[in-house]
Amino acid sequence: MFSKILIANRGEIALRVLRACRELGIRTVAVHSTADADAMHVRLADEAVCIGPPAARESYLNVAAILSAATITGAEAIHPGYGFLSENADFAETVEAHGLVFIGPTAEHIRTMGDKISAKTTMEALGVPLVPGSDGELTSIEEAYEVADRVGYPVLIKAAAGGGGRGMKVAETKADLAEAWSVARTESLAAFGNDAVYLEKYLDRPRHIELQILGDMHGNVVHFGERDCSLQRRHQKLLEEAGSPALTTEQRDEIGATATAALSKMGYRNAGTLEFLYQDGQFCFIEMNTRLQVEHPVTEMVCDVDLVREQIRIAAGESLGYTQKDITFSGHAIECRINAEDPDTFIPSPGTVTVYHPPGGLGVRIDSAVYAGYRVPPYYDSMIAKLIVHAPTREAAIARMSRALDELVIEGVKTVAPLHRRILADPEFRKGDYTIHWLENFTARGK
Ligand code: ADP
Repeated sequence: MFSKILIANRGEIALRVLRACRELGIRTVAVHSTADADAMHVRLADEAVCIGPPAARESYLNVAAILSAATITGAEAIHPGYGFLSENADFAETVEAHGLVFIGPTAEHIRTMGDKISAKTTMEALGVPLVPGSDGELTSIEEAYEVADRVGYPVLIKAAAGGGGRGMKVAETKADLAEAWSVARTESLAAFGNDAVYLEKYLDRPRHIELQILGDMHGNVVHFGERDCSLQRRHQKLLEEAGSPALTTEQRDEIGATATAALSKMGYRNAGTLEFLYQDGQFCFIEMNTRLQVEHPVTEMVCDVDLVREQIRIAAGESLGYTQKDITFSGHAIECRINAEDPDTFIPSPGTVTVYHPPGGLGVRIDSAVYAGYRVPPYYDSMIAKLIVHAPTREAAIARMSRALDELVIEGVKTVAPLHRRILADPEFRKGDYTIHWLENFTARGK
């Protein structure tokens, strides 16, 4: 086992990794920008190294500074968290070239899955069902017309290098396709330096259902069931549940078997998530994330597993030590992302948190790096806390989450907590009757 790990991240996820390290008896090195000198992950780590100015490009994305910090402190492994360098294959490679362990999959697998076209081709070859669409990259607008005619409108032009909900354009009809095609390519080139795009049928009422996978270095691959992340705004998740209100145990077992078989053929190691759109009883793979996800705690609660601990054990070469039949699911979990944003306009609301009172009680978990007096910097993601509840049934989890949200006090910055309270009170949500389009309609309907 490692004796010291560098955590190449900030905020709640840096704390999350730090906690797992502590419980494993591993010393931690925090890295931080000058804007985060007072951050909780810096205060709680055994050692901290300042790696640059506020802009992420010069600090949390600064590979040379992070590697220097690891070398100076004698860290043996690097946990990238999510975002920043977590899905950067070059970073994973550089870390290993410096004789350190990257806590994640191989650089090759990160690279394959980082390009959504090669991800889809790879998964298709491994027997995973896809959203109908183009066979790889679209090379001309004529080809786009052909494929769209074949799969039927509306269609979606997606960037091969896309992420974070960016680089996607819908064409409702043939008349919109030329524009969607050129806008998607221009935007993708500007945002990702790559203008490769592909086409998918735009599904009108799917749910976003994803599967949590873990593989070790000895060929064992298991899944920890699904998360339903259909509640999204601008393709960004806001509230997640495990399990999905739409799936039966048989459906979970079936897609789980397909996914684990595929990843075991690939020789995949460490944590990964396969994302699917699910409509009319069909799963369609859209992408794979080769890292820990923001919403991993809902899986941890229903499966009683510490996924970060597992990631570290796997990276150290340990075998899983259990098989699929040992993984059981108990009760229901919900996560609400608490973003420092206006709950109506979603405009970020950085500033000083003057009062902070986290909720507590049975089955309530809060993953956050906030404290009273904490300044939410304007430079990074607006998510400042994740409120997670676990209860025997979905109904009880909704009641528990509503109660926890009522207890939560964050003053000084605006948060989306009021929106979560409204969602939890909505009859359709309570029935579990929603698709990926539900939240946008809900917010458009107003208070
Ligand atoms: P990103 O990497 O940017 O998150 P994804 O491919 O994971 O992109 O898609 C993000 C979200 O966009 C999905 O969760 C879903 O809400 C929506 N989406 C993606 N593909 C389709 C599709 N073919 N039809 C309808 N919605 C889609």
